[in-house]
Amino acid sequence: EVAVLRLGHRPGRDDRMTTHVALTARALGADRAILVGDASQASETVADITDRFGGPFDVTVTDAYRPILRDWEGTVVHLTMYGEPVEAVTDPIRERHLTEPLLVVVGAGKVDFEVYDRADWNVGVTNQPHSEVAALAVFLDRLFEGRELDREWMDADRRVIPQATGKRVEEVDD
Ligand code: SAM
Repeated sequence: EVAVLRLGHRPGRDDRMTTHVALTARALGADRAILVGDASQASETVADITDRFGGPFDVTVTDAYRPILRDWEGTVVHLTMYGEPVEAVTDPIRERHLTEPLLVVVGAGKVDFEVYDRADWNVGVTNQPHSEVAALAVFLDRLFEGRELDREWMDADRRVIPQATGKRVEEVDD
């Protein structure tokens, strides 16, 4: 299992970013997203996309991240510009993930030091400041070595048929 924990959601201001974190988690192979704070709007949007475009993908909202970090029975990876290079640490993380669930933590604003401390790996996608969405996408693609791009979607109402030009969407029969 790969779960993405999104910390520090600020209602209004972060609705789009939190939605994009969860949609990116879903599209790029994670099994679920846990959104901390008042993120019901983002959660509804993602559940709606999963209904239409398929799953499985689970999204939940929670008030507090500390119990999740404390009780997580597996590996914790925290994505941060201050961490070790993704290109250096993804192999050992992947190896550990063969036997353990993986929690990938991303922030919004400032992230408390205890998260750095709890993480088994603090991972930087470059050591330049950018975005939790970009960092998550690169990390998941490296973790899955591109296999997530070819995933099957279950219980979708619709499916996009790739086109060189234009848009084609097919209804999916049950
Ligand atoms: N200034 C905040 C801090 O010092 O913790 C970080 C804010 S940043 C806009 C939001 C999130 O994007 C971070 O918590 C981290 O998860 C992610 N992020 C930004 N740049 C990153 C990088 N180079 N590598 C990995 N994650 C990054």
